[in-house]
Formats: sequence, C-alpha cells, structure tokens
Amino acid sequence: MAKVDYLRLSVTSDCNLNCLYCRPRTEAFFHISPLSYKEMLEIVKVLAGSGIRKLRITGGEPLLREDIADLIGMLSGIRELEDISMTTNGVFLKKAARSLKKAGLSRINISLDTLRKDRYKDITGEDCLIKVFQGIEEALRAGLLPVKLNVVVMKGINEDEVLDFIKFASHKKIITRFIELFSTNKAYQFMKYFVPNSYIKEKIEMAFGPLEEVDGVKGSGPARYFKVNPPQPRRWDRVGVIGFIDSATSDFCHNCSRIRMSCDGRLYQCLFSSQFLSVQDLLRSPVESFQKFIAEKKYYTRDTIKRESFEMSMRGG
Ligand code: SAM
Repeated sequence: MAKVDYLRLSVTSDCNLNCLYCRPRTEAFFHISPLSYKEMLEIVKVLAGSGIRKLRITGGEPLLREDIADLIGMLSGIRELEDISMTTNGVFLKKAARSLKKAGLSRINISLDTLRKDRYKDITGEDCLIKVFQGIEEALRAGLLPVKLNVVVMKGINEDEVLDFIKFASHKKIITRFIELFSTNKAYQFMKYFVPNSYIKEKIEMAFGPLEEVDGVKGSGPARYFKVNPPQPRRWDRVGVIGFIDSATSDFCHNCSRIRMSCDGRLYQCLFSSQFLSVQDLLRSPVESFQKFIAEKKYYTRDTIKRESFEMSMRGG
C-alpha cells in the first residue's frame, strides 16, 4: 500500500458550469456552506503534521471562492507541504493565474472536454470556451507548470477530438490526460457514452506511432504517462506527453496515496467511500484519529468498488 501523503481539498461545492456527467441539469443545485480559510488552514496544518506533503485545491470550482490566492498564500507557509496544485475549469483563470503563482501555487490542471465552442456549451451549459483558452495562455505565461488538460472522452459527443487535443496540447507544451468516465450516482445515466482509454490510445498510435510509458511526470498519482516512441521525424516535436487515467478499466486503488476533504470539513478516505472523519473529531485528537482513519482506508478493485451516491464537488472532485 502506498503511504498516504496527498490531500485533495474541496474549497467550495459551487460550480459555474453544469457538465453533463458531473451535475445533471435535472438535479437541484446543492450548496454546502464551506469552512473559512482560517479553518481550512488549521486542518491542513494538522494533516501536514501527520504526513500530508502534497495538496490539490479543487471543488466545485475553486476559483469561485473569493480571494482564493489568500488561501494559497497561507497554505504555502506550511513548511511540510512540498507541492500545492489546483484543478479548475479555467473559466476565471485569466485573471487569477498570476496571483495564484505569486501566492505559491506550483501547477494547474484544467478540465476541458472540447475545443469547439458549440460543443462546450452543450457539455457545460455555458458559452465561455474562449475564457478557458485565455486562462490556459495566462497559466502558461504565469509559469503554473506543467499545465495539464483533463479530458473526459464520450462516445458520439467528443470522441472525434482526440487527435485535435493532442495537437493543441503538444503545440503549447501542455500535457493532455484522458480520464475515463466513471460511474457515480450522477454519472450513472451517462455511462452509455463511456469510451475506454484503450480505444483512445489505439487512435493516437495509429496517427502518431507507438506509445511508450515514461516516468517522472510531476504529480503522477493514478495517471500513467506516455510518449511516442520511436520519435517520428516531423511528427515527434508535435506530440507531447500524454496521460491516461483508467478510472473505470484498471485497478489502481492499491497504489492510492490520497485522501479528500469536502468543503465543510469531512475527511474521506476515498471518492467512493461514504465513511468520513469530521473536523471536530480530527481536531480533538489529531494523531490518534488520523492514524485510525488511515489504517481503515479501503482499497477496492473494479469488482468491489462501491459506486455510492455522492457528488464529485462535495468530496473534492
Ligand atoms: N471545477 C473543477 C474542474 O472543472 O476541474 C474541479 C472539480 S471537477 C469535479 C474535477 C474533475 O472531475 C474534472 O476534470 C471532471 O471532468 C472530472 N469528473 C467529474 N465527474 C467525473 C466522472 N463521472 N468521470 C470522470 N471524470 C469526472
């Protein structure tokens, strides 16, 4: 079992987008009152004292929290933390990128499922793809590196954009990561659009040549990274590093080093576990309660995983 040293911290359950598989439009919007930055800081300090070294800020949409750079600034003062990153939809990134970098954010992942304006609106419910492109440019300029794109490929919706993503990202020296759609309570009805990463890999190999796994990409987690090998003249410099997160077709729980915290201070062992440690219990006896919590962390396989009813945004998506 991997040592638990990575926390995904949801700073809000709110989101400005309404992506098909994450927050179906038929559902009522579900808002949770988040902890204050001071409370979050106190909890992360306690967790850093118990071995957390890497932190990812997520949500909901983290850039919806006012003055989020202030939180990053406070967190980056925690001596034990080696890496602070963020996952965002990028819509508000243009304005925020520089202050985030200045405050101590090291790198950023941007979720983007299409490069086409009309599709972006169909998938997310909002017409703001151009803002995401501007956010990407600003993140690169600000040095939030590596910039990674999180792409969920769906049958009949965006599967024809796989090679466009490779070209777009390679040209900008961005890492593309294909995340398999996984079944949650909300995504359940969208599983008919599921595309396995093996299909995407095949499509890329047919276009650019064989892929070979590479090590050493910062913040690897459950992602596996590949490069085209052998490098192909004329094509090589256009194809950058490509990541695959086989969320639905691989067992990677045994290698999981992460825990998650919801914006209201519930510490979850896993996205798929409903058991949580409350902030009150954690702060009452930090060492004992955290050690017990980690010792009880469950490691699933594809057959034993429990697709329980939960919202990504509530558990630190
Ligand atoms: N708002 C931020 C964003 O858009 O990146 C952070 C939260 S969002 C829930 C984090 C990531 O989870 C996104 O990349 C999204 O595509 C992914 N995601 C949500 N539900 C998913 C599902 N059922 N299967 C695969 N990925 C999912």
